[in-house]
Amino acid sequence: MAAQRILSGMRPTGQLHLGHYTGALESWVQQQNLLDEKGAHVYETCFLIADYHNLTTSLETGEIYANTLDMLIDWLAAGVDPEKSPVFRQSQIKEHAELFLLFSMLITSSRLERNPTLKEQVRDLNMESMVYGHLGYPVLQAADILLYKGNVVPVGEDQIPHVEITREIARKFNNHYPHPVIGEVFPEPEPKITKFSRLLGLDGKAKMSKSLGNTILLADGPEDVFKKMRTAVTDTAKIRKNDPGHPEVCTVFSYHARFSSPEQLAGIDADCRSGSLGCVDCKKLCAANISLELAPLIEKRHYYQSQMDLVKNILLEGEAKANVIARHTMQEVRTAMKLGETN
Ligand code: SF4
Repeated sequence: MAAQRILSGMRPTGQLHLGHYTGALESWVQQQNLLDEKGAHVYETCFLIADYHNLTTSLETGEIYANTLDMLIDWLAAGVDPEKSPVFRQSQIKEHAELFLLFSMLITSSRLERNPTLKEQVRDLNMESMVYGHLGYPVLQAADILLYKGNVVPVGEDQIPHVEITREIARKFNNHYPHPVIGEVFPEPEPKITKFSRLLGLDGKAKMSKSLGNTILLADGPEDVFKKMRTAVTDTAKIRKNDPGHPEVCTVFSYHARFSSPEQLAGIDADCRSGSLGCVDCKKLCAANISLELAPLIEKRHYYQSQMDLVKNILLEGEAKANVIARHTMQEVRTAMKLGETN
């Protein structure tokens, strides 16, 4: 059986944080390297730098290239291998915009207005009004995924409604425009929920986000990690060192659950509850475990920062590969839609 294709992406917002790492990057790398019992790759992975998506919430493009390279360096440092997974910018593959336009005809504006992720964004970003392109964000995302015929989309739970819109568009296109040779042009991609889809922000808010200023960056060295960890919200009922605490309400404990060993976690849980562990020592241990995991990424980051021509070439090569797939899909789309016929 041919490998299933995974298409996933991020907006180029510059350096990435731990939330990006546990919520997406880690699982991208696992999928990229996953082999079946015969040693064949289970997935074919493609990673998109969603620069058009940036424009749905901000018109500023000044730093977009620098942010793209910064983010790409974090991807490479975390283990994205461009030989296995082409990396490319949405804006450099013109077919994204073309397919987005055609898909816009297949969905109603009321369906898009009902999208719960959109409502959440409007609330989180305090948006008073929304540009037309933002309402169509999930349609552009459908074009991103289906242009490469992605069968699997790794997502956090908040993104599931978007994948559902992609599935609806694929279904509608396939029903309405059967291809004379291959029949259905698009697969209906399945969402694949990542295990640690969300990491709490240092302030205890629902997620890490640069705009909320509650992040630990993947590029942060041990000193910075500890400095930031000191600000993390803990159990507010544990005021003195020896007060018994409740790890289940503590942000730091949620980080331990991801970055500490099961033995350490059990010990922290017991010692917090008994009052024998103070929050400062607990945070020190948490920061040390995070830094241990980040150390190889930081080393690789330094390497790529010293090889910027290599990083730029990785992007251009990824875009050349993506272009071949995108052109092929659009030929099928035009044939199925009878667009461009001359007889
Ligand atoms: S001891 Fe650790 S787990 Fe317990 S409240 Fe303090 S920081 Fe949280």
